[in-house]
Amino acid sequence: MDRTTIDFGIDLGTTNSVISVMNGGEIETIKNGNFEITPSVVYFDKRGVKRVGVSANEMLNRPATATDVQFEFKRVMGQRVEREFKSAGKKFSPEQLSAEVLSELRRAAAARSGSEPVAAVITVPAMFELPQNEATAHAAKLAGFEHSQLLQEPVAAAVAYGFQTNAEKAYWLVYDFGGGTFDASIIAIRDGQLRVIKHAGDNYLGGGDLDWKLVDQCIVPRLSKSFALATLARGLKARDIDNGRMLVLRRHAEQIKKMLSKDETVEYFEENVFVDDDGTQVDIECTITREEFERLAAPAVERSISIVHRLISESGVPKASLDRFLLVGGSTFIPLVRRHTAAIGIPIGMEIDPMTVVSRGAAVFASSQRLPSSRLRPTAVAAGAAVAQLEYESVAKEISPYVGGKIEIDGKAPAAGAKVALQRDDSGWVSGDVAIDPKGMFFTTVQIREQGQSVFALTVRDASGQLVPCTPNSLAITYGLSIASAPLPAGCGIGLADGSAMILIPGGTRLPCPAVVYPAQFVRGLHKGTDEKLRIPVLSGDEPMAEHNLVGTYININGKDISRDIPAGTDVQIEISIDASGVPQIHAFIPLLDETFKPSERIETLFEKPEVMRERVEAIRVRLEEVENLADEADLFALSSEASELASSAVFDEIESRLERWDDGDTDSAGSARNLIVDMAKRASVLAEKVELPTAQAQYKETLDATRKIAA
Ligand code: ADP
Ligand code: MG
Repeated sequence: MDRTTIDFGIDLGTTNSVISVMNGGEIETIKNGNFEITPSVVYFDKRGVKRVGVSANEMLNRPATATDVQFEFKRVMGQRVEREFKSAGKKFSPEQLSAEVLSELRRAAAARSGSEPVAAVITVPAMFELPQNEATAHAAKLAGFEHSQLLQEPVAAAVAYGFQTNAEKAYWLVYDFGGGTFDASIIAIRDGQLRVIKHAGDNYLGGGDLDWKLVDQCIVPRLSKSFALATLARGLKARDIDNGRMLVLRRHAEQIKKMLSKDETVEYFEENVFVDDDGTQVDIECTITREEFERLAAPAVERSISIVHRLISESGVPKASLDRFLLVGGSTFIPLVRRHTAAIGIPIGMEIDPMTVVSRGAAVFASSQRLPSSRLRPTAVAAGAAVAQLEYESVAKEISPYVGGKIEIDGKAPAAGAKVALQRDDSGWVSGDVAIDPKGMFFTTVQIREQGQSVFALTVRDASGQLVPCTPNSLAITYGLSIASAPLPAGCGIGLADGSAMILIPGGTRLPCPAVVYPAQFVRGLHKGTDEKLRIPVLSGDEPMAEHNLVGTYININGKDISRDIPAGTDVQIEISIDASGVPQIHAFIPLLDETFKPSERIETLFEKPEVMRERVEAIRVRLEEVENLADEADLFALSSEASELASSAVFDEIESRLERWDDGDTDSAGSARNLIVDMAKRASVLAEKVELPTAQAQYKETLDATRKIAA
C-alpha cells in the first residue's frame, strides 16, 4: 500500500540525528547500519571522499584527520558562514552540512524500506528563529525531500509521551539537555490538543561543554606532568591551540563522561593517542571520580535548573499544576542531572529513550500529516481503474471517525451497483460493502485502534463484484493528540529609519500567520540606473529597538533594477506571512513602480562585528549607570542596588571573553555573545522602565507611531 501520510520523523540534532517511521500503528526507530543514532558529523578525506555519521565521528580519533571533521554546525544554522575541509579544499554552509546528515538518514530509511522517503517531519529547537527555520527547510530540499514540515523538538517529545497517555488536560515540562544546547518548554494538553506555552533555554549549554571541562581541567593538567604539550595549555588564544590533538582528547573525555554515568570511578587508559611536542607517544592514563566530574559539571547543571525555575515562574503555570517532567537528550543520563531534576519535585518521565524520543514523536506527528495532494494524485491511471478523492481527518479523538469520498472510473461515477470496502491493517475490523451513489459518493464510519495509527485498505468493486484497481488504495488515521498550531518563537518585522523596530508579527503568534501588511515611506529617494540602493532590514526578534533584534536579511532595491526614480517619501508596503513550519514569506511592494521586491538573499543571521558589539555593551553599562543615578534621586534604593549589581555582573566578563573569541573569527562565540548582550540589554530596559517616569515611555511610543519611515 502506498503511504498517504508523511510517516517519517527526523530529529536533526546538534550532536546526533535519528530517523523514525510510523508503520501501521508501530513506531520504529530506523537503524543506520548497526546504530539507531547517527552523529551529526561530516568528514572529507584529502581525495574529497565523504563520510557522514558514525564513520565520520571515528575520524576524530586521530589528530591528522580530526581537523577535517565538521560537527555542531547546527549551532551556526542560518548564518552566512562556511565550514572548511582543508585537506579536500572544500567549503560548506551549515545547511549543506545538515543536508548531508539528512540524506544519510534518508538512505538509511531507503535501505530499510526499499525506497527513499519523499517527505519528512524535521524537528527544530523551540528557540529557532526565522532564519534557522528557513535554513532547515532548505537543507531538507537539498537532501532530496520534496516536502518537509518543521516541528518543535519539545512538542515532538511530548507527542511521543502523549501517544502513550490518555491525559485530557495536563501541563508538562520538557527538559532537553543535549550535546550542544539546553531547552526547556512548558506544554499544555487540552482536549486532545497540544501546544508550547512558553520556552526558555541556552543555545550554548550542552554536554559538549562538559567534555571540554574534563579536557581542560582534568586531562590536560594530568598529561602535562609527563608530556610536552605546550600547545594544549589552557588560556591560549584559540588560533594557537592545536585543534587536532584537542579534538582527540575531547573524544576520550566524552567516553570518560559517559562511563561516569554508570560508574563511581573510571580508571581510564588508552595507549598511543598521539605524539607530544617532543615526538613521544602519549598514553592517556587517569583516574577520575564521579565526584570530581560533578564539581566540574555543577555550574552547567545548576544553570539549566535555574532556567527551569525562571521558566515556570514566567509561564504563570503553578508548579503544582505541572504533571510531568520529561527528560530528553543524552545529557539527562548524567546522575547529577537526574538528582537536580528530581529535586524540583515534579514527577519525572523517562520511560522513553531520551536519545530517540524526539524522532519518535516526530514520526507520530508525521503519521497524522497527509502527504500534499500533489504526491497522491496518480500521474497516470490505467483505463478502467478507479481514482478516489477521500475526505477524512487524519487525527481522530474518537474511535469511530467518518470517512467519505468520491470514486471515479475513467472520469465518471461508476455504474450503479459499485461498492467500496475498507479493511483495517490488523484485520481487526472490516466495513462490509458500502454503496457508491449515482454521483460516485460514498460515506461510512471506520473503527480505529485506541493507539497510534490505523491504516485501512480501500477496495472498489464494480456492479459485477469484480475488483477494480484504485488509487490511492489506502488511508491512515491516527488516534490521539493533535498539535495545536505552534507559536512563532521570535517576532518578525522591519527596522525603521529612527532606529526602532516595527515588529509586524510578534513572537508567540499562532502559526500559520496570514499576511500582515505595513504601509511605510522611504526617507531617501533613489535614482534610476545608479549604483545606489535602498535597504529595508528584515528583523527577527521582539525588541522595540531595531539593534536589539537579529537582522535576518535585507530587501535591497537597486538603482540599476528600477524602471523610474523613487522620490523621497514614496510609499512602500511591506508584507510578511509565516507558514505552519515557521518559514516566512516577505516582500515589499512599491505602488509607484507597480513592482514587488523580495529579500535579495534567503534570510540569514548576520552577526555584528566585535567592535560594534563592544559599543553595545558600553551603551548598556552607561544606561545602567543612568538608571542607578535616577533611582538614587528618586529614593528607589532597591532598584538602585539592582542596577549597580547588574552593572558589575560577571556576565559582562563572559561577554568579553566570547568577544575575544569572535575577534579570532569564531562565529559560535559571536552568537553566544549576541545572546548574552541582548539578554543584558533587556534586563537593563526592564529596570529602566521601572525607574523612568511612565510619561517618558508614553512619549516614546508616540514618536514611534509618528515615524512610519523605514531605513534607507
Ligand atoms: P543533541 O540534541 O545535541 O543532538 P543528544 O540528545 O543526542 O544531543 O545528546 C548528546 C549528548 O549526550 C552528548 O554530549 C553526549 O556525550 C551525551 N551523552 C550521551 N550518553 C550519555 C551518558 N550515558 N552519560 C552522559 N552523557 C551522555
Ligand atoms: Mg536533541
